[in-house]
Amino acid sequence: MRTTKIEWTDKTWNPITGCTKYSAGCAHCYAESMAHRLKAMGLKKYRNGFQLTLHDAALEEPYHWRNPHKVFVCSMSDLFHESVPIQFIDKIMKVIADTPQHCYQILTKRAERMETYFEQHPIPTNVWLGVTVENRDAKYRINHLRNLKANVLFLSCEPLLEDIGVLDLQNIDWVIVGGESGRSARPMKKEWVISIKEQVEHQNTQFFFKQWGTWGSDGVKRSKYANGKLLDGRIIQNMPVINDYSI
Ligand code: SF4
Repeated sequence: MRTTKIEWTDKTWNPITGCTKYSAGCAHCYAESMAHRLKAMGLKKYRNGFQLTLHDAALEEPYHWRNPHKVFVCSMSDLFHESVPIQFIDKIMKVIADTPQHCYQILTKRAERMETYFEQHPIPTNVWLGVTVENRDAKYRINHLRNLKANVLFLSCEPLLEDIGVLDLQNIDWVIVGGESGRSARPMKKEWVISIKEQVEHQNTQFFFKQWGTWGSDGVKRSKYANGKLLDGRIIQNMPVINDYSI
């Protein structure tokens, strides 16, 4: 059963909360506003607000989930944040390896640190690895991802902030695109989305259009629910074809 509103996953797991801004995509960080809200509501886990905090107790959670899940790891942080100790990342990887019934999706903006980590540690077969590519400046992250031997490598172009130009999708299995939500959201133009979609299809990768966000396909600002997720009249939410590096 899905327990998150994030369309491309069905559960979130947060053994780390809090983060610091890293690049343009962070400007209106959803995790930050949510962390402040949860702190104001008195949730113990968020007593530090958006300050980076490790939660040892949360490491136990996946062992207790009855059904297999697709799990977004650290939706309220960035697993490869520079202040997360390697030993804590090791603990998270152990839980992941111990629970092969679940599939874990790890998305980071700290692509170099993720690459360095996995050059020195095995990648569990039930892990999908992704990097955020919100603009041209962030495209370098793809090169830190593409040689990692995870069963799925993916890009999240969300919030898409500009036309990101030519994309080399060699070894990339899946590309998610979405616009920004919220009062101060920056607009996403339809031609930027179409450019990515065409390149993804041409390079035999899977395309997932999540949502328009606060600015509609017609360039009008309204609620993200009203703007929806149709692209040229269709929902296009393809999932990746899974490689198998375990054999
Ligand atoms: S990396 Fe992610 S969690 Fe951290 S500030 Fe940026 S958007 Fe927020």
